[in-house]
Amino acid sequence: MKKVFLNIISNIAPMLNKSIKLKPTKERSLQRFHPWVFSGAIKSISPGVEDGDVVTVLNNKERLLGKAHYSSGSIAARMLSFEHEPIDQKFWDDRIKAAFSVRKRIGLIDSKDTNIFRLVHAEGDHLPGLVIDYYNGTAIIQCHSIGMHKSIEQICEALKNCTDGLVRSIYNKSSETLPKEYAKEMENAYMHGESSSEMEGLENGNHFYVNWITGQKTGFFIDQRENRKLIAHYSRNKTVLNTFCYSGGFTIYALAAGAKQVDSLDSSQKAMDLVEKNVAYYPDLAARHNCITADAMDFIKNLNSDYDIIVLDPPAFAKHRDAKHKAVQGYKRLNARAIEQIKPGGLIFTFSCSQVVDKELFKNTIAAAAIVAKRKIRILHQLHQPADHPINMFHPESEYLKGLVIQVDQ
Ligand code: SAH
Repeated sequence: MKKVFLNIISNIAPMLNKSIKLKPTKERSLQRFHPWVFSGAIKSISPGVEDGDVVTVLNNKERLLGKAHYSSGSIAARMLSFEHEPIDQKFWDDRIKAAFSVRKRIGLIDSKDTNIFRLVHAEGDHLPGLVIDYYNGTAIIQCHSIGMHKSIEQICEALKNCTDGLVRSIYNKSSETLPKEYAKEMENAYMHGESSSEMEGLENGNHFYVNWITGQKTGFFIDQRENRKLIAHYSRNKTVLNTFCYSGGFTIYALAAGAKQVDSLDSSQKAMDLVEKNVAYYPDLAARHNCITADAMDFIKNLNSDYDIIVLDPPAFAKHRDAKHKAVQGYKRLNARAIEQIKPGGLIFTFSCSQVVDKELFKNTIAAAAIVAKRKIRILHQLHQPADHPINMFHPESEYLKGLVIQVDQ
């Protein structure tokens, strides 16, 4: 009797809360744990639901599918849970603890030579719309959904209480990642503690200055950590061109590994100032380094190259599905030029961080670029994002960083 009563309650309760109901069959992707619901899948929304609310997600027969953050955009709901659990402080604590324990397992929490890493990687940590990067004591939060932003106080509490004292200050840098209209009066600010915005950190023993207030994204491109290690392996006595270099991650590793010469290039003067500063930290490296502020494509086009290694790490050429074709053309042109110009036997470290360009498409694009350049290439390494950017198996889009190390034979 009691069981029947509980069943009735658990079936009715969701209908009393804020909820969204899906059209028939539209729950299929959720049954495969894909965490997004597109607006076209929604049959009805209960009264009073606003952007950013936590809603109960029901199928067409009112069966409960989980809890989500509602949004009025094309991704209408981002799943927080596939169960009927309250989204309360305990929920946030548990999710942050789980993310923390993954970083501990990877070895990042106790590492002596790396104190820059990603602590929360959105869907990859079952927290769609939330990115948290960690810089030597400070956590930088970027909310990509209004729902996450409305939950930020609880996220902050979880960061303070569930990370073994690792997080000493918290900076909210969401004004540029939230929908423009919602964020128009928002300012980025510290939510806990405060620290000098220019931080000094270590990545695999290499020293970097990072400024999360003035820098791009959260201040540093953490996702290239392992790939930078690989360039060090090939750089001894080599001449390297690091294009789209931002703060010079690949540059420092290559120089420290004994590169003969590294030229760093970015179109942003601010980025180039930062590279110069990062190189200057190591006075004995500066003599082998050169800064170039220029458009990468223009520079490579006119290059009469004797580079042994070229790095191509452009920003995402396509942020949306409809820009995919143009993006592919962009990657093809850029890579064709680099393949054309590099020394015989040279290596190209080429990347794409566009979510909509998958591994296979990227590989095919590089093959097409080699055909345009009329040169033979082979793949030595296939690269990807590191383990602190975990991939949610049910959300292929969370596998966003792809890279190839190609050797250009003749
Ligand atoms: N490789 C970097 C991250 C690259 S982010 C690292 O390891 O940290 C992409 C960079 O490309 C940004 O710094 C941006 O300023 C630069 N950029 C964007 N468009 C460019 C262009 N047309 N030419 C050169 N640099 C460009």
